[in-house]
Amino acid sequence: MILIDGKKVAAELRAELKEEVAELKSKHNKVPGLTVILIGDLTPSQIYVRNKEKSANEVGLKSEVIQYPDSVEEKTVLEKIQELNSDETVSGILVQLPLPNHIDKQKVIEAIDPSKDVDGFHPMNVGNLSSGYESSIPCTPLGCYLLIKKFEPNLSGKKAVVVGRSNLNGKPMTQLLLKENCTVTITHSKTKDLKAECLEADIIVAAVGIPELVRGDWVKKDAIVIDVGINKTDKGIVGDVHFDEVSKNAKALTPVPGGVGPMTIACLLKNTIDCFKRSQI
Ligand code: NAP
Repeated sequence: MILIDGKKVAAELRAELKEEVAELKSKHNKVPGLTVILIGDLTPSQIYVRNKEKSANEVGLKSEVIQYPDSVEEKTVLEKIQELNSDETVSGILVQLPLPNHIDKQKVIEAIDPSKDVDGFHPMNVGNLSSGYESSIPCTPLGCYLLIKKFEPNLSGKKAVVVGRSNLNGKPMTQLLLKENCTVTITHSKTKDLKAECLEADIIVAAVGIPELVRGDWVKKDAIVIDVGINKTDKGIVGDVHFDEVSKNAKALTPVPGGVGPMTIACLLKNTIDCFKRSQI
């Protein structure tokens, strides 16, 4: 079994992005800028945002974090987004989720200029992705896609099973695999026989949030298995795939941690740079 090393691939991607930022700087005399809005003091969100800021600085992006208390009014956030939409030094805007209950998540997502939507959650980007047009692509499925392509460049005709149908992961993942001419099955909590579906797959992407759901005898020999899950358990952090069992069967597997996670942040930087490049055309 080959371990797909997301840490290594993410480091390579960041190095490429760093070179790209330097080239953009010498060509345009400015660098792409990422602004993250963080609301409240949820510790995991703060850690993610700190990591995002650190990585953005490493590749040479201009990065800024705007922090509001939990009690901030929705109107204040929407006004700040409008201000950032018209700020030419801001290439990408990200509002860290989850939001406090009194703030309407969809309203916030739709307030972001689609050309600065580095999360790829705006309905215009969702629609463009499903229509096969250029768009910002949600960072985690984009990271999974790049890992799969690095390992297996030609996906045409492969049978892929995506476990989970969230807007964040499962649905965009399905679109990316379809675009590569995979035959894709998207599964969810009402799927009748998940094991039987997975046993058909050349590629499995698990984005469920249930620790070690995908077992060794669900995976056919030679399958590529991508584990998106991050689950806190008594044993520590585990994925949605039973690593020990599946590693005995699969051709290739991502570890948790060190698989998809590092790719997510690297893809956020990529999306910021891509938004900048599109704005310069
Ligand atoms: P989510 O929004 O909770 O969606 C979970 C999906 O799994 C839903 O579509 C649900 O089906 C499906 N599901 C639930 N139980 C199932 C079952 N028994 N069999 C098959 N499908 C089932 O989760 P998410 O936001 O996509 O996150 C999934 C996991 O990825 C979590 O562990 C999260 O922490 C992790 N994550 C990792 C990264 C990263 O950077 N590595 C980023 C984001 C998320 P229904 O639609 O029918 O309810």
